[in-house]
Amino acid sequence: MSLELKNIRKAFGATPVLDEVSLTLQSREFIAFLGPSGSGKSTLLRIIAGLETADAGEVWLEGRRIDTLPPGERGVAMVFQQYALYPHMSVRENMAFGLRNARVPRAEIDTLVDDAARVLEIEQLLERKPDQLSGGQRQRVAIGRAIVKRPKLFLLDEPLSNLDAALRLRTRVELAQLRQRVEAAMIMVTHDQAEAMTLADRIVVFNDRRIQQVATPVEIYSRPANTFVARFVGSPA
Ligand code: ADP
Ligand code: MG
Repeated sequence: MSLELKNIRKAFGATPVLDEVSLTLQSREFIAFLGPSGSGKSTLLRIIAGLETADAGEVWLEGRRIDTLPPGERGVAMVFQQYALYPHMSVRENMAFGLRNARVPRAEIDTLVDDAARVLEIEQLLERKPDQLSGGQRQRVAIGRAIVKRPKLFLLDEPLSNLDAALRLRTRVELAQLRQRVEAAMIMVTHDQAEAMTLADRIVVFNDRRIQQVATPVEIYSRPANTFVARFVGSPA
């Protein structure tokens, strides 16, 4: 088992957003969070990453309770939709930034950055500045910043939604390859069903503050748990 969420509850003021959400991920599993806008997907990722505090519940990663730890000590890395790179820094410096803050020794930083660059095939871009990169290349650098931390869990919040259709498709293939190379579990939030269906081992469907179904793409489509899931994935059931 990799990640375990136990009875997570969250409200913003008087508005409940997550109600008793529980979920267990296997090691190296690729999970997609699917659901309408406002159903709490990003909030749950932010709670796992430590950018938001749950009102109740626990988060465990590989046998360790992490919701009581600061974000930097959780073994979790998050890639945002707005993947702001530091414009005045080279790609190498952007990727090294988090490690430098964590006081990782210089030689080790170089090795980690070079390894991540090889995985993402951006070795030839390391000395460039962000404004010398295409949108897809920038996105890879943003993923690289997460990879160098060697997290046990990657959290990707709609990572492809700023890309045009062709690039989106290409990056989707790259993500599928990437997950073979990094020994970590991944959760990707997406509103794109095709993306979830092609990439994920299992899909988690959110609506109305709760998880509606957790199942493989085939099961979600062929045996939706309720009418909401059936309508949302457009299954014939
Ligand atoms: P999703 O990612 O599924 O679209 P979110 O987790 O972003 O949903 O949002 C869930 C609900 O919580 C929405 O109604 C949103 O407006 C609200 N919300 C999210 N973040 C905050 C915040 N920081 N303050 C107040 N309300 C928030
Ligand atoms: Mg969101």
